[in-house]
Amino acid sequence: MPRPIQAFISVSAIRHNLNVVRTHAPGARVWGVVKANAYGHGIARVLPAMSHADGLALLDLQEAQLSRQLGFVGPILLLEGCFEPADLELAIALHLSIVVHCNEQLQLLRRYSGPGGVEVYLKMNSGMNRLGFPPGQMQAAYAALREIPSVLGITLMTHFAQAETPDGITEALTRFQEATRSLPGPRSLANSAATLMHPAARADWVRPGIVLYGSSPFATKSAGELGLRPAMTLRSQIIAIQDLAPRDAVGYAGRFVAQKAMRIGVVACGYADGYPRSAPNGTPVLVAGHRVALVGAVSMDMITVDLSGIGEVTVGSPVELFGDGLSVDEVARSAGTVGYELLCALAARVPTRAEP
Ligand SMILES: *Cc1c(COP(=O)(O)O)cnc(C)c1O
Repeated sequence: MPRPIQAFISVSAIRHNLNVVRTHAPGARVWGVVKANAYGHGIARVLPAMSHADGLALLDLQEAQLSRQLGFVGPILLLEGCFEPADLELAIALHLSIVVHCNEQLQLLRRYSGPGGVEVYLKMNSGMNRLGFPPGQMQAAYAALREIPSVLGITLMTHFAQAETPDGITEALTRFQEATRSLPGPRSLANSAATLMHPAARADWVRPGIVLYGSSPFATKSAGELGLRPAMTLRSQIIAIQDLAPRDAVGYAGRFVAQKAMRIGVVACGYADGYPRSAPNGTPVLVAGHRVALVGAVSMDMITVDLSGIGEVTVGSPVELFGDGLSVDEVARSAGTVGYELLCALAARVPTRAEP
């Protein structure tokens, strides 16, 4: 028998969350962002829900290839564009759309002499200072793209650095609008946070990722309050129970020392499964429906939790690390990170099952 840990992916939750996005941006088309193996959920598992999106956005050519092999025929957007000539050939062969964010990528397109053509997302740097042309170069980049025969169409794009706060995008949006005022074509600006919080940024295509998986991009608004359903639930079991006397310690380095007699449950889940090693004492864990506290260091294959006062728990009792009954965002916050990181961290060794 394998270790009892298992992840469950709810396809219907993703479909529901996609509908939540659509109610916020009824006029926009939706790129379902499935980069990083669909934020840890598995491209193949989420695809049945993503068939309700207007396209898939990702950044790994292998993931694009897999999506095509699995039968996805809609648009696929390569969010970081191409890195070398062979990428462009494959992108065109697979009918992908590509981001062009720098002059080197423009050159790459210019040098392409093969058959076919490609839809281009011309990206502007609106203040994130990672990818994108400076506002002052957008006109020239647009003009250069228009000269390239293999460029079929051009969409204007940017990505906000601070869409999570009420006035976080004001300056960036103005910068984008001013730099692109004279340029025709559709626009794509909004990630999850911008789609939900900033109506002015919804434009023609929105690019939600995290909300599709039922995690909130906002520190002050929970996924539940946003009407989202968790798509990933990580479950395991109690595999041992220890009774501690006062001053007994638990786990590596004795990070937790019992002040009184305590009952400790050992859970088959550790950092090699993707659970954050940074989770401190007190991080919530759900055991047989009870919220209990993690105590002691997270180790590679196990964590330990305080079962004092919960009589009925035995070896084999069910544990939920996050998901349906315990928000991934709450666990992430306790560990000093965000839901994104926990979802993406789900390890390959965890048996995972999709549920319709
Ligand atoms: C990852 C990504 C998104 C999705 O972001 P979320 O915060 O998960 O909604 C959108 N656009 C770009 C360019 C991205 O890289």
